[in-house]
Amino acid sequence: MTYPPRLSDEQYAALVSDIKDWQITHGSLLKLVHTDEENTVQCQPVGTTFFPTLFPRALFDEAHALQTAFNKLYAAVAEDDEWLLDVLRDLIEVDDLASALWEIYSEVKEEGFVQDLTLGIFRSDYMMHVDSKESLRRPELKQVELNTVSCAGGVHTNIVSDMHRHLHRTGAYHSAQPPNSENLITRSSDLPPNSTLKTISAGLAAAHKAYGPAKSQGVTETCILFIVAADNFNIADERPIEYALWDESIPSYRVPWGHEVLIHTSLSPTRELLYRPASRSNAMEVSVVYFRTGFEIYEYDDIGRMGRLQLENSRAIKSPSILSHLTGFKKVQQALTAPGALERWLTPAEASMLSRTFAPMYPLDDTSSGQHAKKLALDPETASNYVLKPSLEGGGHNVYGAEIAAFLQHTPEELWKSYVLMEKINPPLLQNFMMSSRGLYEGPVISELGIFGVCLWKRVQNGESAQAEIVSELNPSWSLRTKDASVDEMSVVKGYGCFDSPALVDWDVFMSAVKA
Ligand code: ADP
Ligand code: MG
Repeated sequence: MTYPPRLSDEQYAALVSDIKDWQITHGSLLKLVHTDEENTVQCQPVGTTFFPTLFPRALFDEAHALQTAFNKLYAAVAEDDEWLLDVLRDLIEVDDLASALWEIYSEVKEEGFVQDLTLGIFRSDYMMHVDSKESLRRPELKQVELNTVSCAGGVHTNIVSDMHRHLHRTGAYHSAQPPNSENLITRSSDLPPNSTLKTISAGLAAAHKAYGPAKSQGVTETCILFIVAADNFNIADERPIEYALWDESIPSYRVPWGHEVLIHTSLSPTRELLYRPASRSNAMEVSVVYFRTGFEIYEYDDIGRMGRLQLENSRAIKSPSILSHLTGFKKVQQALTAPGALERWLTPAEASMLSRTFAPMYPLDDTSSGQHAKKLALDPETASNYVLKPSLEGGGHNVYGAEIAAFLQHTPEELWKSYVLMEKINPPLLQNFMMSSRGLYEGPVISELGIFGVCLWKRVQNGESAQAEIVSELNPSWSLRTKDASVDEMSVVKGYGCFDSPALVDWDVFMSAVKA
């Protein structure tokens, strides 16, 4: 059985045309912001696959089932500043972003917290892994990373998933060669509906409701504030969330990072966050601050820091809080893979369920594990099985395999401890067609499943330390990105990563597709 099905030239051309029309009419687009034409809108489509990529139903379900325990873990770690400082101390010494964030946290702690709720909008990313020595075995899930700040792609995936289901119902996927040949995707339940847009907006709405009425004197209305990148090109992934909130009668506004935050917001004497939209004379009180930026070091100049400090100091519920932001650092992920680490917050059953998805990770410090990792990294032969990662977000920072040794030789050794070394995940190769800014592609592909976990938790102070108590949680939702198997990174902006949706199949079908 071949998948994707073989299409005639005519069918292929029609599919490309159908996809382009869907992209334009549904906003599968990146905005070209640096164009000076006033009377037009210039965009570029985001990369997309033509067909849903085959994915084992069992692993799709398993990834969803893991999320409640990951939510519990990442909420707990975000309230455990003692453990976090221990893990991040080395990084804070050499990394400007970690130190900027830790300084802001320390200042807020010094002032005293006025909000004990935090909203987590997480995305836990997995690849399938097959042990290269046992290629006949079924693949298992391995976590690539868990993102805690500005998790993107939810709306793009939603649009592509809807597109694939639409194309399926029109018969566009029916192979013409040979006529009436068997079609792998027959049941609509093989193409799971995507509700990521609804999930994210419902999470923000739940936090907005939990905040309650305005508390500042003379203020009657509350609103959600999105903190976004100036010159934002990814509006198609953000705006629909805002529109969905307005549809629920929740006012939602956007403020670009930096001086605009200081111009348009202020703190009341009791630290409510007040926002003055340009369109209104009255201030509104901000219930939730949702960061869609703020993870790049260049954003933390004096103005950027003042803005983030003001937001963090306020009574608004943050998504994420500074500590929750820091839990997404790769250094934290690596520390959580240490034997016994998870049991600090989880039951043994939860810990063993999550740790099965961890690929081996090492620090590059002076501990014995760090010394071992340095040996692995400096020998190009062993290094070929690893990825070197800094604690940075946004993509494009990793160093892969054979390049690691040379990279480290050109990096001052005192900076090595800001990196972690992760064993390469060895994904099964599937087939698909893709279209992105790099052009049209047909061939082997690798997919990455993201699970969106949305939860609201409360800090419960217990003497000097604090714990997290989950207040509410939504059913997780998913994203799928797929890339050409010959590239290491997954950048959507560079056109490597394409949005996708899974065609869920049983193991026998999946294994025969992988072997074919
Ligand atoms: P970030 O998204 O913060 O840049 P990631 O850890 O997600 O960092 O890595 C970026 C991309 O690199 C991933 O999307 C994945 O395609 C690839 N990658 C990361 N870790 C591994 C790994 N251990 N094995 C194989 N590929 C990896
Ligand atoms: Mg990533």
